[in-house]
Amino acid sequence: MCAICGCGGGQFLINGRVNHHSRKAGEVARFRLHQHAHEIVTETVKEARLVKVERDILAKNNNYAGVNRHYLAERGVFALNLVSSPGSGKTTLLVKTIAELNVPLAVIEGDQQTENDAMRIRAAGAPAIQINTGRGCHLDAKMVGHAMEQLDLQDDSLLLIENVGNLVCPASFDLGEAHKVVILSVTEGEDKPLKYPDMFRAADLMLLNKCDLLPYLEFDADLAISYARRINPDLQVIRISATSGIGMPAWLAWITAGCTQAAKQRVTIAQ
Ligand code: MG
Repeated sequence: MCAICGCGGGQFLINGRVNHHSRKAGEVARFRLHQHAHEIVTETVKEARLVKVERDILAKNNNYAGVNRHYLAERGVFALNLVSSPGSGKTTLLVKTIAELNVPLAVIEGDQQTENDAMRIRAAGAPAIQINTGRGCHLDAKMVGHAMEQLDLQDDSLLLIENVGNLVCPASFDLGEAHKVVILSVTEGEDKPLKYPDMFRAADLMLLNKCDLLPYLEFDADLAISYARRINPDLQVIRISATSGIGMPAWLAWITAGCTQAAKQRVTIAQ
């Protein structure tokens, strides 16, 4: 159970079987059985409370996300929520994107600690706000709303949100973005989409990153993509390398099309 976000806490499996306490027959005295039954009831009540807390947290987050989405739509801002494991190359990809994209943009960086990524983004020439979540394992819509106010976003611009490196919790938290973009690097396992399906289901685009390293690895890119599409048949995929530039034109074209669409919607809202 994550103490901050209320994630997890549900039933868990060991070797594919529901885990209750492991007991060998004959090892537990009768009075312990009564105590155990009492513990199970107590745990069930606790879990029901946790589920309610989690639901309340997500409902509150969704309200903030709705406010953010409205704020962004009024300004014609195209917002992307970049999610991945730690080390997938999100920040490097953002730095390259900033260098090559001819669109006004701003960045919100999420990490548990340090301002390192925001400093890299600022050095690349874009305004950036760093959110440190402390023990928190994801950004939420309230944090992002406050950061957006400080960024003073331009009309018809792009907002890139780099979430905390975590393939679990950020899947559940809508920030008001137009799309979640999941980044899977070829230095990870092909089966990440099967292990963390919620994230690949929540995303609209997958960037298969570090593709310049494929000749040196046993990573099967087609297999990884087929696993991701087994989870989410509508998932768009771009094979990319921020280092070599493979796939960058497709990624930049995808962003530009989204920005054009968001700007058109702003005009419609204004009329
Ligand atoms: Mg980063």
